[in-house]
Amino acid sequence: MGFHKRKKSARKLVDIERYVSKCMYCDKDIYSTDSFVALIKTLDPTTYNYAHYQCMKDNDKNANKTCD
Ligand SMILES: [Zn+2]
Repeated sequence: MGFHKRKKSARKLVDIERYVSKCMYCDKDIYSTDSFVALIKTLDPTTYNYAHYQCMKDNDKNANKTCD
């Protein structure tokens, strides 16, 4: 009987938390597991500002204060 022992790969594919960038609003680190957005900062060359989705929303709210 000569069958090979099979190595069972029991490794799960987990979401790897990777550092993305600093949040342009709160200045905290953004990780790939967070909800975040990339906002174009400059076009030539194309660079991005990164922000937590929540921070962007909060900022939007403040910016939408109209003069009513
Ligand atoms: Zn933030």
